[in-house]
Amino acid sequence: MESGFLQTVEERESLLLAPYAMRSCDSAGRRHVEPEHLYRGPFQRDRDRVLHSSAYRRLSGKMQVFTGDKGDYHRTRLTHTQEVASIARTIGRSLRLNEDLVEALALFHDIGHPPFGHAGEDALDECLKDVGGFSHNRYGLTIAEELETRHQPISGLNLTYEVLEGQKSRVDKAADNRRPLLEAQVVDAADSITYDAHDTDDAIKLEFVTLEELRRELVMIQWCFEELGSRADSLDSDSLRRAVVHTLIDFQVNNVLMESGKLVSQSGWQSSTEARDSGVIIEPLGELADAKRQLETFLYDRVYRHPELIATRERAQAQIKSLYMALVDDPSKMPDRFIQRCDIHGVERSVGDYIAGMTDRFFEKQYAKQCS
Ligand code: MG
Repeated sequence: MESGFLQTVEERESLLLAPYAMRSCDSAGRRHVEPEHLYRGPFQRDRDRVLHSSAYRRLSGKMQVFTGDKGDYHRTRLTHTQEVASIARTIGRSLRLNEDLVEALALFHDIGHPPFGHAGEDALDECLKDVGGFSHNRYGLTIAEELETRHQPISGLNLTYEVLEGQKSRVDKAADNRRPLLEAQVVDAADSITYDAHDTDDAIKLEFVTLEELRRELVMIQWCFEELGSRADSLDSDSLRRAVVHTLIDFQVNNVLMESGKLVSQSGWQSSTEARDSGVIIEPLGELADAKRQLETFLYDRVYRHPELIATRERAQAQIKSLYMALVDDPSKMPDRFIQRCDIHGVERSVGDYIAGMTDRFFEKQYAKQCS
């Protein structure tokens, strides 16, 4: 194929990226060496590999906070991921970071979530406590390195070192004293901005809380109303909720760009290594960080611990434990590839890995089949 007219990844990145961004040509590469693609850079290929994986598609059937019983309005794990990627790219582009790497990390970041969100994670962690427990971040690596197969005989997605390392930094933040690449930090910040905003939106829409309560109790929401000014009075309740949530996102993104972004852009760092070793943290700072903590405490107490969600959580946890026990007793009920994994990884881990990959609906079907 004639390629002389195409701008190379290196040319494009040298025009767009800041010196402290992670460049494709500096990537440590992949475990299994592959020829370079004609026009897609390594991080762009990683993004595409994640996007085309079945684990990524299954995120559409996994709950974020609210289950499918509550209708179709609220976020799923997939739409959450897409919102994170959108916000992370906005921040990454403004800071002139590597947007392909940011997007790959964002699309990948929650790929390891089991059915029923954190309730499912806690249940699996308890089931697997004697063999090292369960963490969705670690399971994301298992998906990327073992469970998804692109080309036999290589197992896994064969992602770049940088994307895998970014995910590893989520597994145990205290394990490595080194800060992650700025691109990975941007995804972490975007994750938190996103779930604070959309959980607020979903909670109001699903009537777990009212906007008035939030306004009364939370500084951040009061700021949103101040920002909206007299416009707020002319909006119907749905439009007002949307306007408040948009403002909530804007406040946080602006804060990250103004505070952390100022540090980054004035730093004089000449490489991504210098940037990460400086100890800089890209996250909301100052009084906005305090207001954000107040919002998160509110969401925890009043939404995530809402009796209706606690009931869902308890039911999901009991069902996960039952299916886990049933499959540990008889692993032959699993698909062949998970039966084969029992010899290498043990029955418990293999059953945990099988259950963790299920969507909420597939889990319920399996539970009905094996446990009723
Ligand atoms: Mg997330």
